[in-house]
Amino acid sequence: MEVDHIEIVGAREHNLKDVSLRIPKNKITVFTGVSGSGKSSLVFDTLAVEAQRQLNGTFSWFVRNQLPKYQRPHVDTIEGLTAPVIVDQKPVGGNARSTVGTMTDIYSMLRVLFSRHGKPENPPHVFSFNNPEGMCPECEGLGQVRRVDVDAMLDKSKSLEEGAIRLPTHKVGSMDWQLYAASGYFDVSKKLRDYTEEEWHMLCHGTGGKVTVRTKNTTYDMKYEGVVDRFARNNLKRDLSGLSERGRANIERFITLGECTSCRGRRLNPTALATEINGRNIADWTAMEVSDLIAVLAEIDDPAVASIVEGIRTSLERIEAIGLGYLTLDRATLSLSGGEAQRLKTVRHLSSSLVGMTYVFDEPSTGLHPRDVGRLNELLRALRDKGNTVLVVEHDPDVIAIADHVVDIGPKAGVHGGRIVFEGPFEKLREADTLTGAGLRRTGVLKSDFREPAGRLPIIEADLHNLKSISVDFPTGVLTVVTGVAGSGKSSLVSQVFMQTYPEAIFVDQSPIKASARSTPVSFLEAMDPIRKLFAKANKTDAALFSFNSAGACQECKGRGELITELAYMDPVRTRCESCEGRRFNAEVLAHRLRGKSIADVLEMSAEEAVEFFTEREVRDRLRGLLEVGLGYLSIGQSLSTLSGGERQRLKLAARLGGSGDIYVLDEPTTGLHMSDVEAIVDLLDRLVDAGNTVIVIEHNLDVVRRADWVIDLGPEGGKHGGQVVFTGTPRQLLECPDSATGDHLRRYLA
Ligand code: ADP
Ligand code: ADP
Ligand code: ZN
Ligand code: ZN
Repeated sequence: MEVDHIEIVGAREHNLKDVSLRIPKNKITVFTGVSGSGKSSLVFDTLAVEAQRQLNGTFSWFVRNQLPKYQRPHVDTIEGLTAPVIVDQKPVGGNARSTVGTMTDIYSMLRVLFSRHGKPENPPHVFSFNNPEGMCPECEGLGQVRRVDVDAMLDKSKSLEEGAIRLPTHKVGSMDWQLYAASGYFDVSKKLRDYTEEEWHMLCHGTGGKVTVRTKNTTYDMKYEGVVDRFARNNLKRDLSGLSERGRANIERFITLGECTSCRGRRLNPTALATEINGRNIADWTAMEVSDLIAVLAEIDDPAVASIVEGIRTSLERIEAIGLGYLTLDRATLSLSGGEAQRLKTVRHLSSSLVGMTYVFDEPSTGLHPRDVGRLNELLRALRDKGNTVLVVEHDPDVIAIADHVVDIGPKAGVHGGRIVFEGPFEKLREADTLTGAGLRRTGVLKSDFREPAGRLPIIEADLHNLKSISVDFPTGVLTVVTGVAGSGKSSLVSQVFMQTYPEAIFVDQSPIKASARSTPVSFLEAMDPIRKLFAKANKTDAALFSFNSAGACQECKGRGELITELAYMDPVRTRCESCEGRRFNAEVLAHRLRGKSIADVLEMSAEEAVEFFTEREVRDRLRGLLEVGLGYLSIGQSLSTLSGGERQRLKLAARLGGSGDIYVLDEPTTGLHMSDVEAIVDLLDRLVDAGNTVIVIEHNLDVVRRADWVIDLGPEGGKHGGQVVFTGTPRQLLECPDSATGDHLRRYLA
């Protein structure tokens, strides 16, 4: 008999307290609870992992050998699972060749359309920029080429003898430096900005005879070659992946990506671009916003291609329906935000004819304006109605409201969480005595006193992406919230234009932290050194022993605590190191104690516990920031690679607390935060402002908007129909603004 539930018995992954539950199939189940309560541990680390593992078990041993080995999660049994599809916010395809068109398969349909209906007729592969017959030969289909960044390389305010060449290999006195300084072509004391055109050309691109350069013991003859050309020849086409991180960074600093001049960024060769439909080639098509493309497609009235036109139209309309109509098909997927990437992945699944799957979503409302959450909900319902099970981890009340079934995890975070505190329909959750229930019952109020700006930071005529040459002042000394529907231009204005204009501002975003695989919150906050010293002192031994990259580390996993298998096209698979049981150190080191705890015990502590345990200020003060940003539940030795985007952002914020007179810029700091945690993060932003800082946040959450001193609302729509300032003023004035979608939703929220 077909079971109508997924049944989980005895889940104990991370903080889960032997949890058992049933999840209805072919329904939407939303998982709620404060950050760190255990939602991901249950949904992603237990259920999704086991589903993947069971699925792999159904393949032949040959196929199985090619697949990642999933470690069995800590759970007694899970029954009734179906094949999982995980739709998360990880960036799609870490690949410069992937575009919105290719990832949604719309581009391959367009190729067929151009082949059958375009003039002159070419076969479909000619329209592929990944195929040698279609790609622009200059950039090999990337649309961009790597170029030497001359401004980064040469400091025009200096002379050669003052070190005008910034390449680390060209230090004053070095052999490479002598190739120019001793060439006789230049006055070594003349500043580069005073060079004649000929001298400048000679320095960058010239060729010439032999130059004698000297080392301590000997002399060499080197052939003269301009510094830009020589660097380009040695580094541009070279594979840098073999170099150390430092070595690579030293080269990448002097390289920029620029549009390919041959194809002007269109990736295709002249043959492919010569084929047109109604006067437009395929690159013209993909450069149009999806909403406009739908109209252009409607002009085709040819029964021979009717079915392919229909297929393209359906897919384009799906993209528009989830509020991404402002995207263009030629947009590189690498430049999409996490929320945009997730919604696009959903489109791809909607067009698949597979049914009976288990879809798992991680906070799909991220980056969505309240206005567009309704469209997202339709998408989730459509997946369910096709006959799939839909599981959603979510904080947004408007998404929780569409659940057929809610599982609320808590009561709090970390060791204080890991239990199911409510299971049932949404209406009952509103009455439940849990933090989520309380959050749903709460009503917001507008604050009564708005802070007066101390000064202004002007942006003048910003025109990046869709911005319509807008000028706007950002007030200082207050909390400013920048709002607007997705694609209206918030990131372009704030993360890019504002940050380029005011580079001294502290930008706290969700991007991955560039750090080694061994980095942890405690090392990131620079509290690891003092902890090592405390252990060394207590045990009369060497502090270096307590480092993951020392002789004290476990030999097997080199102090990582896990073994990482890299897989092409998939996320790497992590398995716990058997030798040290994930404790990262060898037995000798683990025998050393500080007040009864080993170094591994300490690293397993949550931030909250660690702040209790360490009375020493040099440790405690550095870790206390974690509590302030709502990460008290995080284990201080947890690998940074296990953190979500929202957690990473708050960790970065924790590292930057404590100043005054600074400008903080944050992009959706409430991502991943429960309603009850949002209050805490706004309290923190308020404290930052009270301490004399300026805080600017991009945010959709109306609980943040209502506590702003100043709102800058962009719109009115996304893409080319956006990019304008719709409103600036206090939230009270926003309520009276007739044409702001944000004002509209704030009004309803406060009613
Ligand atoms: P949520 O998804 O509700 O925010 P999580 O499931 O991510 O919560 O976290 C629950 C608890 O498990 C937290 O205390 C967290 O620090 C811990 N945890 C999560 N992932 C890991 C991990 N990879 N290693 C160790 N602890 C983890
Ligand atoms: P928001 O932050 O309000 O969602 P964005 O600033 O991300 O809006 O986007 C505004 C417009 O600029 C959209 O039309 C978007 O497609 C476009 N855009 C954003 N980033 C890029 C990029 N890297 N390349 C090309 N277009 C971009
Ligand atoms: Zn090109
Ligand atoms: Zn180990």
